[in-house]
Amino acid sequence: MKKILVLHTGGTISMHEDEDGDVETGIENPLTGAQVTLPDVDLTVENIFNLPSEHIGPIHMLQLQQRILKAEGAFDGVVITHGTDTLEETSFFLDSTLDVSMPIVMTGAMRSSNELGSDGLYNYQSALRVAAEHESQHRGVLVVMNDEIHAARFVTKTHTTNVATFGSPISGTMGLLTKRQIIYFYDLPKRHILPIAHVDKRIPVLKAYAGMDGQLLELLAASNIDGIIIEALGAGNLSREAAQGVQYILSRNIPVVVVSRSFNGVAEPVYDYLGGGVQLEKAGVIFATSINGQKARLKLLIGLDNRLDDSALHTYLHQL
Ligand code: ASP
Repeated sequence: MKKILVLHTGGTISMHEDEDGDVETGIENPLTGAQVTLPDVDLTVENIFNLPSEHIGPIHMLQLQQRILKAEGAFDGVVITHGTDTLEETSFFLDSTLDVSMPIVMTGAMRSSNELGSDGLYNYQSALRVAAEHESQHRGVLVVMNDEIHAARFVTKTHTTNVATFGSPISGTMGLLTKRQIIYFYDLPKRHILPIAHVDKRIPVLKAYAGMDGQLLELLAASNIDGIIIEALGAGNLSREAAQGVQYILSRNIPVVVVSRSFNGVAEPVYDYLGGGVQLEKAGVIFATSINGQKARLKLLIGLDNRLDDSALHTYLHQL
């Protein structure tokens, strides 16, 4: 008998549609009493939050992380239901800070509990199947939706409404659920896990654009921030004016992390001119490999909480 801890946090999977077709939260999570038909699985269910995922922040992620640490040894796996809007961030935070071998599987829904074609119960049952599967161990945090298994490190929400919203553009889907099997296509590269105790750092994310000037960067440098993430152009480049703004921020000893605003691919220094990645890196900018802006923000938060020095912070954010 596999013992699975279920942590419900809210999101569309726990919501319902009213007469006007608007989706709202209820007092009762419809999944709490859901009939799932899995042999040899014993569920312990906790409603840890009942929040839309836009209301979830690092403080809630830390609470989840601490609950899972406490569950280690007492359970064979954990399933977390969560709103899809910030699911990739919670999954990345847990994946980066939990050194546990048991499967931790996150899921959600794109259609609420009483909508036609609701995907909540199906995804919930799929997540339980993956959590109970021996092959799911040592894979970090997994995201299961729409018969696919994704690694937290690479997964992102790709569509506003489609049930096939989650994808892993850089790595591809990690695994599949069929009616009778759970199939994994590859193993993850090594994970670099750090503990975390506080989540109080202020780290805004800025998106670069053609014609970006340095004004906002200079304003941010004068405000109370601990670091900044820039979703830069292409492989990690900026306009000349934005590059000058970055230099101003760096002169104040505020770490600047660059990722790409492109949906797919890895940011790395390639171009050697003002604003090009090579010169940005020489100036002290950190290139975060293979993650998007919202995940880089969490990674910097974790690195800063561990008081990594400048060189260790570069290495930590740079490594896969
Ligand atoms: N707005 C919802 C949320 O993230 C979307 C969803 O769950 O699919 O809570």
